[in-house]
Amino acid sequence: DTSHGTILYLEDISVSFDGFKALNALTLYIDAGELRCIIGPNGAGKTTMMDVITGKTRPDAGSAWFGQTTDLLTLSEPQIAEAGIGRKFQKPTVFEQHTVMENLELAVAGTKTIWTTLGSPLDRRQHERIEEVLETIRLQDRRSMRAGMLSHGQKQWLEIGMLLAQEPRLLLVDEPVAGMTPQEVERTAELLLSLAGKHSVMVVEHDMDFVRSIARRVTVLHEGHVLAEGTIDEVQNDPRVVEVYLGE
Ligand code: ADP
Repeated sequence: DTSHGTILYLEDISVSFDGFKALNALTLYIDAGELRCIIGPNGAGKTTMMDVITGKTRPDAGSAWFGQTTDLLTLSEPQIAEAGIGRKFQKPTVFEQHTVMENLELAVAGTKTIWTTLGSPLDRRQHERIEEVLETIRLQDRRSMRAGMLSHGQKQWLEIGMLLAQEPRLLLVDEPVAGMTPQEVERTAELLLSLAGKHSVMVVEHDMDFVRSIARRVTVLHEGHVLAEGTIDEVQNDPRVVEVYLGE
């Protein structure tokens, strides 16, 4: 059952940089449990939107709610992470000198104690959580390997796992398959699809074949607002979308 209502409400969000509107009255809703792809040409405002959701950038106008009760615009970046919004940037940032397992132990213990956690005992629930995550990201047989030895794709999955260890309700994922082999791309699609339902996931992605393989609903951003929304076929056949991409 994925119908838990709306988890993210962005309404009339505007962000200006020196008079230039990076976001221009952006309105976007994400359903709980959905896997949404965000596409759009360079400069469309995708990164700025993620920055607003995570509290890195404050909008000049508009409202942003997480669930029915959490006003994101009143919270700091760490408070937003604490409230259950995780963000995966494009480049993997794992602790290369530590093992897969240790990376997950650090993550499950929470970012606040990240430097003091190694070696201190985790409770049973945390151990179970790590096993669950290892299974989800399918790195059980790499648990004792130093993260620095993993392939690019495995590092990306580990970092997604580190976010999952913190049990986010909404995951923002920026270009997850950039630089991956075709096999890694396929496994990443399976991974993201397996998260939908339990988590809400927003994926910013340029690779249209990948978007086609995962998304039920696609939002096209252009000039700081939503140009089109629908299935990948609907948006790819939308003349306004075709025009914007031809102009790139
Ligand atoms: P996208 O992620 O879709 O490529 P961005 O959100 O990064 O788009 O950028 C939207 C527009 O806002 C771009 O034209 C970009 O140059 C501009 N922009 C983004 N961040 C800043 C900033 N910190 N200062 C000035 N301009 C910015």
